[in-house]
Amino acid sequence: MSTENKETAGRATRLLHAGHEPKVFHGFVNPPIVHASTVLFPNAAAMRERGQAYTYALRGTPTLDALEGALNELEGSAGTVLLPSGLAAVSVPLLAFLSSGDHLLVVDSVYGPTRIFCDGMLRRMGVEVEYFAASLGTGIAARMRPNTRAVFLEAPGSNTFEMLDVKAVAEIAHGANAVVMMDNTWATPLFFRPLEHEVDLSIHALTKYPGGHSDVMLGSVSATREAFPRLRAAQMQMGINAAPDDAYLVFRGLKTMPVRLAHHQAAALDLAHWLEGREGVARVLHPALPSFEGHELWRRQFSGSSGLFSLVLDGGGRAQAEAFLDALELFGLGYSWGGFESLALQPSLSDRTLTPVPAEGPVIRLQVGLEDPEDLRRDLARALEAAANAR
Ligand SMILES: *Cc1c(COP(=O)(O)O)cnc(C)c1O
Repeated sequence: MSTENKETAGRATRLLHAGHEPKVFHGFVNPPIVHASTVLFPNAAAMRERGQAYTYALRGTPTLDALEGALNELEGSAGTVLLPSGLAAVSVPLLAFLSSGDHLLVVDSVYGPTRIFCDGMLRRMGVEVEYFAASLGTGIAARMRPNTRAVFLEAPGSNTFEMLDVKAVAEIAHGANAVVMMDNTWATPLFFRPLEHEVDLSIHALTKYPGGHSDVMLGSVSATREAFPRLRAAQMQMGINAAPDDAYLVFRGLKTMPVRLAHHQAAALDLAHWLEGREGVARVLHPALPSFEGHELWRRQFSGSSGLFSLVLDGGGRAQAEAFLDALELFGLGYSWGGFESLALQPSLSDRTLTPVPAEGPVIRLQVGLEDPEDLRRDLARALEAAANAR
C-alpha cells in the first residue's frame, strides 16, 4: 500500500495489508512458515556484526515478523513479542518489569490465572502484590507507594466485566513512575487500543478472537518505544518465542477477525437484550447494555463489544446453574472463548477479595459463537426452563 493510502485506510484495510509484503516473497499473498533454528552468515565479519535481518530463529523469523507487524499496526505499538499462551503474555511482562521489593497493584477482577501467578511466583520472589477494586477509579492515587513499579489492568474485568477509566488510572500510575500493563483480550485492538490511553504494554490472549478457531494457543505483548526494549530483553533471556505454525494460524485468523467480531458483537448484543428482564434472569452483565453499571465508562472508551458476557440467574445455586448448563445443546461446556462455537460455564468468582459477587443467584458466562442467533436463543430458553424446573 502507498503511504498515502495507508494513512487514510480503515482498520480492516490496514489489517489485511499489515505484516507481510507479497513482493518480498515472490508475490505469494501469505508469508512463508519458516521452520528454523540456524541462520547462516556469509562470512566471519558478518557473523561478528550480526547486522543481517535474521541471526537465530529464537530472535525472529519472517513468519513471526509478519504477525508482530500486523499486531503493531493494530495496537499502534513500537514492538510486539509473541509468547506461547495468553497467560505467558501476562507473566513475562510482569517478570520483565518487577524486582524483589517492588510493589504491584492489580485490578481485583483480573483473569484468575493472572492472580495465581501474582500470588504465587511474584510473591515468592519478594514482590508486594496488592489488589484494588475497579470501582476505586482515580482513588488509586492513594495506593501508590514510592516502590510501586507496575499497575496491572484488565477491562472489562474477567467474567463480571467491571469497567474502569483506563487513561485516568494510567496517568496516575505514570505520575508515580509505575509502568502500566493492560490485558486487552476482551475488546481486541479493533475495539480498544490501550496505548492511546497511556498504557505502556497491551496484552492479548491471541488464543481467543485473533486465532478464532479454537485450534491454537498464543499470546502477545505490544509495547511503546520506551517499554519495548526491556520486554524484549526479558523474552530473550527467558528463551521463549512462538512456534512458526502457531504464529501463522493467528496471522491467518487476524484477516477475518473484523467480520467475525462484527457477527459476535451483534449476536451477543441481541441475546443479551433478549435475556434482560426474562423470567429466571436477575441481571445481564454486558458492558454495552445501558443497564450495566460500567456502561458509561465502556461507551466513552470502547468502539465496540465482543461476544463474551454473563447473566445472573434469579435465585438458586449450583443445582440450578448445572441444570442450565446441562440443558444446553449448542453451547458447549468448555474453557476459553473467541472461537467460532458458542460456549458456557459457571465461572469461579471465589478468589475476588474486593469486588462484590452478584448475590441474586449463580453467574453463567456465555461466549456467543457464529451459529444462527435464533438457534442459540432457543437453546438458552431451554436452559432457563431447566434451571426453573430444578428449583
Ligand atoms: C484466556 C485468557 C488469558 C489466557 O490465555 P491463554 O492463551 O488461554 O493462556 C488471559 N487473559 C484473559 C482475559 C483471558 O480471557
